[in-house]
Amino acid sequence: MLENHATLARTRSYLETEICKKYPTREASSIARMIMEHTGYPSSIYLSDPHRMAGSGNIMQINKIVAEIHTGRPIQYILGYTHFCDLRFELDEHVLIPRPETEEMIYQIRADTYRSGCRMIDLGTGSGCIALSLKKYFPGCEVYALEKSRPALIRAKENGRLLNLDVTWIFGDMLQQQLLQVEEKFDLVVSNPPYVRKSERMMMDDNVLLHEPGMALFVEDQDPLIFYRAIRTFCLSHLRPGGILWVEINEKLGEETAALFTDAGFLDITIRKDIHKKDRFITASLPAHGI
Ligand code: GLN
Repeated sequence: MLENHATLARTRSYLETEICKKYPTREASSIARMIMEHTGYPSSIYLSDPHRMAGSGNIMQINKIVAEIHTGRPIQYILGYTHFCDLRFELDEHVLIPRPETEEMIYQIRADTYRSGCRMIDLGTGSGCIALSLKKYFPGCEVYALEKSRPALIRAKENGRLLNLDVTWIFGDMLQQQLLQVEEKFDLVVSNPPYVRKSERMMMDDNVLLHEPGMALFVEDQDPLIFYRAIRTFCLSHLRPGGILWVEINEKLGEETAALFTDAGFLDITIRKDIHKKDRFITASLPAHGI
């Protein structure tokens, strides 16, 4: 436990030592930084005034957080938020922790032009991070988001309220499109659906497996592209001729996933890599005359 009267320098190094017991050094250092910031000591304070004593309330709070880190609970759930595309998202165990890959996708979409009045939809929105970031970068566009988990949708709506970003939230399941009442046509469809095969679970860390919602991550090995077929069906009825699709994908299933869209007559199908050079996204468009 961190002792009372610890200085900020000591607090920071204590955090780093403790977190290293659970995480690789690089990650531990960024988690330590997040905790310092959360407890009122951003780097601008602890680096400029390292000999200052941490408050006793803050030390109690830090000891509580460290105890939770030792249980393997991800820091984003412990603190209750994370940052994504420079926005703060409140999180709980009903929603996936937004990933840097997904943030990369948003930055790539942002480089394209969408005129004011365009409609965009995020299928399977979780915390709302994709939909709300799109609304932030394209304020003149109408953004919609679909989610089948009620507690996730409540969380996403709350994020929209806190960020003061206006998104139309729809409760519904992309695997049950006959029940969806979405009349609109869209210029952009985006999705980061579940794509990790259950057999790939053994390569994942316990802090993901035991704490994040499996519903948002996993698919059966016999049918790993189930959500991409649903996205394809949705696009065939809801994407405007000439409209664009962006999906995040399983790095090992790029060709198969792309083939789904080729077979259906989509154009400009491109498998794109993430910064780790893994096949991570697919973009495609509908022909201008429709399919
Ligand atoms: N990239 C995420 C992970 O590896 C998976 C996201 C998803 O299944 N859509 O944890």
